[in-house]
Amino acid sequence: MQGGILLEIDCSKGEGGGQMVRTSVAMSTLTGKEVHLARIRENRPTNGLSRQHCTAISAVAEMTGSEAIGNTPGSRELTFKPGNGMRYSIDTDVGSAGSVSLVLQAMLLAGSKTDKPLKINITGGTNVMWAPPIDTYHQVLFPLMDRMGIKVDAEILERGFFPEGGGRVSALLDPVKKISPLDLPDLGELKKIRGICFIQNLPDWITKQLISGCSGPFEPFGGAEIEIERTTGISKGAGLCLVAEYEKGFLGSNVITARGRSPKDAAADAANDLIREMKSGATLDVNTADQLLPYMAMADGDSVFSVSRISRHLLSQMDTLETFLDVGFGVERRENVYNFTVSTEGKI
Ligand code: ATP
Repeated sequence: MQGGILLEIDCSKGEGGGQMVRTSVAMSTLTGKEVHLARIRENRPTNGLSRQHCTAISAVAEMTGSEAIGNTPGSRELTFKPGNGMRYSIDTDVGSAGSVSLVLQAMLLAGSKTDKPLKINITGGTNVMWAPPIDTYHQVLFPLMDRMGIKVDAEILERGFFPEGGGRVSALLDPVKKISPLDLPDLGELKKIRGICFIQNLPDWITKQLISGCSGPFEPFGGAEIEIERTTGISKGAGLCLVAEYEKGFLGSNVITARGRSPKDAAADAANDLIREMKSGATLDVNTADQLLPYMAMADGDSVFSVSRISRHLLSQMDTLETFLDVGFGVERRENVYNFTVSTEGKI
C-alpha cells in the first residue's frame, strides 16, 4: 500500500453517476491510494449514494479489509481507505431490486488481483433497468474477460426484478495471474445471433411477443437462436438478452419489458440496437466498452478496440482511471467507429 496518497474526485463531473463511485473504490483497493469522493451523483434526481452503491462499497471494503467513511444511503461524500487483508468469500444483499450486476462489477474489479478463488454471493435485482442484466455478463463480458486472463463464473440461483428484487447470484472468480491486453481491431466473421428470453411469473403471450418482435429484424442474418427460460420467484418480469457471436468477439443488446410498452416493440428495438452495432463495425458494444476499460488500463500491454459511439460512461471511466493509473487513451475516428488504443505505459 502506498500510504499518504489521497486522491480527490469530484463525482459530479462527466457522467456523474454511480459508476465513478464503484470504479474509484475498486481502483483505490488495487492501487492502495486513499480516495475522497465529493458531490456524489449531484446531477441525478436523487442525490448521493443509493442502496446499490452502498452495498457495492461495503462489499468491496469487507472483501479487502478497507475502511469506508460516509457509506450511507443519500451520502454525497465518501472517504475510502484501502486495506490489505483479503477475504475470499463474501455474501451481500442489496436489500432491494438494486442491480446485482453492478455490485458484482465493483467486486470483480476490486478482486482482479486475487491469488485464491474468490466466492461472491449477491442478492438483489438480476434484471433491472439502466443496469447490465446478469445474462449479458454471461454472453459478452465474461467471455471477453476470460480472454484477458480473468475467469469468472456466475450462476443465477433466482431471478430478481423491480421492485421486490430477491434475485440471487453466486459468482466465482479464479485466481488472476496477469491481465492480458484485449486486441480487438476487428471481429472476423459473424457465427450466429443467439439470445435468452426470460420470463418469471408473467403470462406466456409476453414470451411469444418478445420472440416475434426480434425475428423480423434478424431474418436477413439467418435468424436468431433464442432460448426461453421460465422461472418462479418473489418478483415478476421478462426480457430479452441478445448476442451476436463473431469469430473473435461478441456484441450484445438487451431489453426488459415495462408496463405501457408492447413487448413486441421492445424486442424489435433490442434487435435493431444490436443490428446497428453490427453494421457500425464496432468491436465492443457501447455498454461493454466502459465495463472492460479498467481491465485494459491494468493489462500487461496495449489494448485496441472500437465503438460505434463514445458514451459518457466511457469518458468518465477514462477520467477516473487516469486519476489512479499511468494510462493513456488514444481515440481516432474512422468511418462509422471510434478506434481506441489503451496504453498502459502512460500517455499516447
Ligand atoms: P446512477 O443511478 O447514478 O446512474 P448507477 O450505479 O445505477 O448510477 P451508472 O453509473 O449509470 O449506474 O452505470 C451503469 C453501468 O451499467 C454502466 O457500466 C453501463 O454501461 C451499464 N449499463 C447500463 N445499462 C445497461 C444495459 N442495458 N446493458 C448493459 N450494460 C448496461
